[in-house]
This record gives sequence, structure tokens and C-alpha cells, in this order.
Amino acid sequence: MTNIVSTRLLILGSGPAGMTAAIYAARAGLSPIVVQGIQPGGQLTTTTDVENYPGFRDVIQGPWLMEEMQAQAEHVGTRMMWDHINQVDLTRRPFVLKGDSGEYHADTLVIATGAQAKWLGLPSEEHMKGKGASACATCDGFFYRGKKVAVIGGGNTAVEEALYMTNHSHDVTLIHRRDSFRAEKILQDRLFANPHIKVMWDSEVAAFVGGGTPEVLVGLDIRYVKTGAISLLEVDGAFVAIGHSPATELFID
Ligand SMILES: Cc1cc2nc3c(=O)[nH]c(=O)nc-3n(C[C@H](O)[C@H](O)[C@H](O)COP(=O)(O)OP(=O)(O)OC[C@H]3O[C@@H](n4cnc5c(N)ncnc54)[C@H](O)[C@@H]3O)c2cc1C
Repeated sequence: MTNIVSTRLLILGSGPAGMTAAIYAARAGLSPIVVQGIQPGGQLTTTTDVENYPGFRDVIQGPWLMEEMQAQAEHVGTRMMWDHINQVDLTRRPFVLKGDSGEYHADTLVIATGAQAKWLGLPSEEHMKGKGASACATCDGFFYRGKKVAVIGGGNTAVEEALYMTNHSHDVTLIHRRDSFRAEKILQDRLFANPHIKVMWDSEVAAFVGGGTPEVLVGLDIRYVKTGAISLLEVDGAFVAIGHSPATELFID
């Protein structure tokens, strides 16, 4: 029999947005339920240093911050549910949400499902996922200790990921398709001051190249956008850091 949970307010997602909503709702006496999803704590649990959260002069850790937010939300009366929602019906009331572990009926729904990392969309990238192609340096960087790595992108995420990877590797190449970064100036200053990072400007990844048995990433075919010329960059790991797209497929139509 399906386990049905009924609530006045259901909050979908347990990142900073979901936790903030939960703290306000619980303090308003709405007894909210947070469905945490497959990434309890959200994206900040995949990073280390956070230095722009107001109120902390020193650098704090993303996973710690999210534990604190969850503890505060629970302390003021939020109930956490360990489930992932894969179906919603918003045409009737109460709203009906179906998850892996049960069904939820909610008078009100707060959607705080955040975002997912974007990929380049190359067939060779898909093939090399888990064999050297990653979209999260803080999750997978450790596996490339002492190896050659590349980071792809030009915004804050790419520059942060390149800087982070120098904790593991002294041979980090940042590949960017333009001739300047969009990243914040303070991050760019740190990047240019770091002797372990070199930048390939006006360059994009044409293909992820595998080799060996079992197959692993051995390099990237890099296209110089001004001439179209392709050259091989030998790397053991490649981190795609080109931003995020909203996790809203559940609400299509
Ligand atoms: C590596 C990295 C470093 C970062 N560093 C910083 C930083 O230093 N400073 C800063 O300000 N920002 C930083 N950010 C950005 C910050 O993490 C995000 O802006 C923030 O996490 C967004 O919060 P959110 O609550 O909207 O969503 P998210 O954190 O994306 O959380 C989404 C939540 O929704 C849940 N969810 C999704 N789909 C479902 C579903 N179908 N059913 C149930 N639950 C679902 C997930 O499990 C997750 O709990 C960083 C991001 C990354 C990836």
C-alpha cells in the first residue's frame, strides 16, 4: 500500500533555497515538510570553501553550512523526508506528488529544486563520463592526485574548479572558448597568480579521447576557434564547468 503523507506546505529541495523557505514557514507555524531529493543539502555540499556567506569573516565549508541550515530548519519545526519526487499533479487540490518512497498531498508547494551542471553535449563526453570526464571537481578531483587535468569554461565555476584542482594537481589547464573570462575579478587574480594553472584561450573541446583497457580518458582534442586547427592535449581528467541549468523537467507542461 502506498504511504501517503499529507501536509499544508511541502518544500521540494533541501538546498539553501529550500532550507530558507523551511525556516520561514516553520516559524510561521505552517509545520512544513522538506523532501530532500537525491542531493540532501543541495549543490553547496559538493564544494569546500564558501567565503561570501554574510556573517562569516573566515572561510566556511559548504557541507558544514548546509548541516547548520538543516539543523536550524528542524529546530524550528520542519520535518525532513528522504525521498525523490518523480511525478507531480498540480491540476488538482491538494497537489499530488509521487516519490520513490511514497505519495505526498500538499495544499501549497514551494519548488526549490535548484540546478544541475551543464555538459558540452558531445557523444565522446557521454562515453567518457565516469572514465575521466566529470562535471564536479570537488566531487571527483581527489581521483586525479598528481595527474594532468583540464577544466573547461570561463565563469566563476570554471575558475573556482581550476583553483581547487591545484590542491591535487600541479598541471591544470583551463580551456576557454573566448579571450577573456566572465569570472569575478578576485577569482581571476588568484588564477593568474597560480603557477600551476595555464590557460588555453580561444579554444574548445572537439572530442574526449579514450585509450587503454579498461578505457580511460587520455586526452582532449582541442579546436583553436580562430583557425579550426585541432591538437591533442594529454590529460587524465577533464572537468566541464560551463554552468548549470534549472532542474525543472518535473514541471514541464
Ligand atoms: C562547486 C560549487 C561551488 C559553489 N560555491 C558557491 C559559493 O562559494 N558561494 C555561493 O554563493 N554559491 C556557490 N555555489 C552556488 C550555490 O551552491 C547555489 O547557488 C545554491 O546551492 C542554489 O541553491 P538552491 O537551494 O536553489 O538549489 P540546490 O543547491 O541546487 O538544491 C536543489 C535541491 O533540490 C533537490 N531536488 C531536485 N530535484 C528534486 C526532485 N525531483 N525531488 C526532490 N528533490 C529534488 C536536490 O536534492 C537539492 O536538495 C556553488 C555551486 C557549486 C556547484
